Amino acid sequence: MSDRPVVTRIAPSPTGAMHIGTARTALFNWLYARHTGGKFLLRIEDTDRERSTQDAVQVIFDGLAWLGLESDETPVFQASRAERHRVAVDEMLARGSAYRDYMTPDELEAERTLARAEGRVVRSPWRDLSPNDAPDRPFVVRLKCPLEGETPIDDQVKGPVRFHNKDLDDLILLRTDGTPTYNLAVVVDDHEMGVTHVIRGDDHLNNAARQTLIYEGLGWTPPVWAHLPLIHGPDGTKLSKRHGAQAVSEFADMGYLPEAMRNYLAKLGWGHGDDEIFTDEQAVGWFDIKDVVGAPARLDWAKLNHLNNHFIRLAEPARLAKLVAEIHRSRDWPLHDDHLAVLEHVIPFVRDGAKTTLELADATVFALKRRPLELPQKALDLLTEETRARLARLRQALAAAPVWEVPALEAVNREFAESEGVGLGKIGPPLRAVLSGGSPAPDLAGALVSLGKHESLGRLDDALSLTS
Ligand code: GLU
Repeated sequence: MSDRPVVTRIAPSPTGAMHIGTARTALFNWLYARHTGGKFLLRIEDTDRERSTQDAVQVIFDGLAWLGLESDETPVFQASRAERHRVAVDEMLARGSAYRDYMTPDELEAERTLARAEGRVVRSPWRDLSPNDAPDRPFVVRLKCPLEGETPIDDQVKGPVRFHNKDLDDLILLRTDGTPTYNLAVVVDDHEMGVTHVIRGDDHLNNAARQTLIYEGLGWTPPVWAHLPLIHGPDGTKLSKRHGAQAVSEFADMGYLPEAMRNYLAKLGWGHGDDEIFTDEQAVGWFDIKDVVGAPARLDWAKLNHLNNHFIRLAEPARLAKLVAEIHRSRDWPLHDDHLAVLEHVIPFVRDGAKTTLELADATVFALKRRPLELPQKALDLLTEETRARLARLRQALAAAPVWEVPALEAVNREFAESEGVGLGKIGPPLRAVLSGGSPAPDLAGALVSLGKHESLGRLDDALSLTS
């Protein structure tokens, strides 16, 4: 097994939302595959035909694409493989590791009651009866579990876990209508997809024992198992709606960047020393499934915001401009033709304080406004006759600035204040109000540079031409 190239997979059931627990499982599988030079695959477990709508499947594709965790091969749809599952069951029947169980519902109920009274799991008499005695009635196919001994799981995260075979019932592989059950389908699909490492949530740990017995029943080698602890809310309880967002799409809508999510999700249960912030390349280089901790990980919004701010400050302005334009569009902000150029230019001046792209969008509103700006009463109140006269003189000084850059404009403002014999405090607020129309804006020189010379002087002219 260890000589084979690593193949991992994520096997979500389409339920209509992609939970961040699933996203973290995808990320760990992806990181491990990348770390080992292996492959990361996707299987859609769509056997519940009612829930598995095209929309629900699309949610998974979109979630993985947004996270940048796309499968290395065409996704496999479990429901399309039912025939393969049935063939595997025939094989198990032939090998004697499965049997047809003809118990009627009444007989099963009686056996259940008896088993409960005797403190043991249900066993069908058909385990040991000859198929030649088979009645002509519906049957299920069950796994023939060994009655004694143990099934050990050497879990890469949980450590060694032992299951007593006498506690494992003969689980159903095929239902009376011939449809395969979940545990069977997972084993057959994982085996035929060449999966070497099954990395998934620890709600599936018990299934690992059952699935190991199915592998053995088919004469196949089980994969390496790694069961990840749950993600808890900040208060340490199971993650639920009251903790806020849970779906990947919600995090996207709240303005988190996928690279911040990757960094953040990687830290939920795994880490590399004290490193809080890292690149994908670093995570890929460092990640080992053995280093995942067994205790539940806790969501921490402050950390996520901190990471997101870091990645917002690193991102290409052109990319952020597109994201921010999308946000403005969704808010019905009337965007003009050159909005992308304006946003790209202004974003470096306003992004330092932004924890999300929504906040970044708020911080760009002042630059997207169109002349003449509507000034709120508070701004108009600042524009006394004296102030207007001063702003008119400042306009001349600004127009004569040697270059339209922050240090030069800071110098112009400072020298102007000195020559007028007033503090910058007398100049800053009205100038900012005139430039921003009352919206949040960067510091004076930043506001001037981010708007550009033409627009800045134009906004000043507009304000100066207002009749008071
Ligand atoms: N379809 C299962 C789920 O969504 C995952 C099964 C597995 O990873 O083996 O929980």
